[in-house]
Parts: sequence; structure tokens; C-alpha cells
Amino acid sequence: MEELVARRLAIVPTTNCSLNCKLCMDYLSGPVKRRDIPLEDVCRDIDACFALFDRVVWLQFVGGEVFVYRDFAKLLDYALRYRDRFDRLIIETNATVFPDEAGRQALLRHGDALSIYVSDYGELSRARGKFDQFAREHNIHYVVKKYHGDGQYFDGWIDNTNPHDLKEPGDVLEVNAMNCPQCRLRNMHCYDGKLHRCSNSCFMQEMGLFPPKDGDFVDLRDVSRSREEKREIIREFYTHARRSCRYCKQKYMAILPRYPAAQQLKKG
Ligand code: SF4
Ligand code: SF4
Repeated sequence: MEELVARRLAIVPTTNCSLNCKLCMDYLSGPVKRRDIPLEDVCRDIDACFALFDRVVWLQFVGGEVFVYRDFAKLLDYALRYRDRFDRLIIETNATVFPDEAGRQALLRHGDALSIYVSDYGELSRARGKFDQFAREHNIHYVVKKYHGDGQYFDGWIDNTNPHDLKEPGDVLEVNAMNCPQCRLRNMHCYDGKLHRCSNSCFMQEMGLFPPKDGDFVDLRDVSRSREEKREIIREFYTHARRSCRYCKQKYMAILPRYPAAQQLKKG
């Protein structure tokens, strides 16, 4: 039986976030609700993913903002049960909130298995200095992506808000979707019991932009489907456009205008 490997498997324990970005790629400043997924449900989803995949290259924790998740430490300990099944655990943070004592201890327990990736939004990333120091003192692998001022990572953000049917003819859509950077990266997204091929598929579905379509995601909690059926859906994730691709501009990323990252919506 052919091995099933996830190159990048992003787990989203929370869509709560410390920021309120105008161009939020998870639509958290729009229709997607901010909420914590209960720890037991996230753990169940991690079990389900590792039951489906033979191996994961990068396991990722992403949000929202993972360090506002109240059970971060327990979640990290839980994921590390699978240490022999993944190469590295990547924690993505906006460096606004430094982890509490329990979170720091958990990071130290597993420091050699993980990397902290900071999206540095300048003044907004208030805890950046503490993260720098913590990673340096404890020899934790640490990467900073600069998202402020000149020379922003990827030249800044694109505007993929207000998704609507782009009305590409079917064959054009197929070619564009296959060339989408997210498709090429094979960055799967797991949120609240569902595994999608990318974050846009996940959150456009979450906002109710279109009805769920069989094969666009795996319902990890569906016991009526066998492991092999679910693995087959995953194998097909990258063979054709998903419903979300019709609405999503990310496939034109190479030519889209760029905007400064993390511009905040005004309160009130
Ligand atoms: S930091 Fe900004 S873009 Fe990222 S999840 Fe929070 S609100 Fe969205
Ligand atoms: S076009 Fe959008 S929905 Fe389709 S694979 Fe790319 S990022 Fe995902």
C-alpha cells in the first residue's frame, strides 16, 4: 500500500486572535467566528490525522493566535505523543502574547522537536523581544518573518477578502488552481473535525460561502467512511480545483498587488 505523507499539516486549535487585521486571510475580521475548539476535540482530530497519515513532515500549530489558546501547554504535550511520526512541529505566532508559565514549560519540554515561526508585525508584535530572548537562551529553533516597514516577506499581503465567484471557465480554473502556491505547497488545514487541502478551502467553507461538497474535505469524525476511503479523498486533494478555488484569488498571488501586512481595523 502506497505511503500517505502530509508535507505540511496545520492544526488550528483556535480562531481567537489578539489582532484584528483588515486583510485577515482567515476572515476573522469578517464572517468567520472567533472561537476556541475544545482541547479534547483538537486531540481527537490529531489522533484522526495520525491514523490517516503514515508520516507528517511538518506538523504546524496555527491560529488565530495559538498563544491565546488556553490549553496550549496540554495541546503541545498531546501532539508530542506522535514525536516519532513527524519531523518537526512548527508553531506560528504573531508574537503579541508571550506564553504563560505552563506554555513556556511545555515549550522547554519539547524544545528540540519544535521551531517557533514569528510573523513580525513591528509594533504590534509586542512580545517579540521576549520570544527572541527565550529562543536564544533555550536554544530553540526560531525564525522571524518580517512583515513591517520596507522589504516585507513576500512583499506584504494580498487582498483575498470579499470572496466571490470569479467566473473562470472550467479549464482555466483547473489550470490556475493547480498552479496555486497553496496547492504546490500541499499545506493541509485541520479545523474543528475537518481536514482541507488549504486554509481558504477551510475558512470559505466555515463562512458558509457554498454548501459542503463531497471530496473537498475529509470529515475526520465521520465513522461511516473507512480509513482507506478517507485516504483516497486526501490523495485526490491536489488533482483538481476545489469549490473554494472558484472564489479565491490566492492562485494569482504572483501578480496581485501587495499591501502592508496586519493593518488593523479601527475599533468601534
Ligand atoms: S494575526 Fe491577523 S491575519 Fe493572523 S489570524 Fe490574527 S487577525 Fe487574522
Ligand atoms: S486557489 Fe485558493 S482555495 Fe484553491 S488551492 Fe489555492 S488557496 Fe486553496
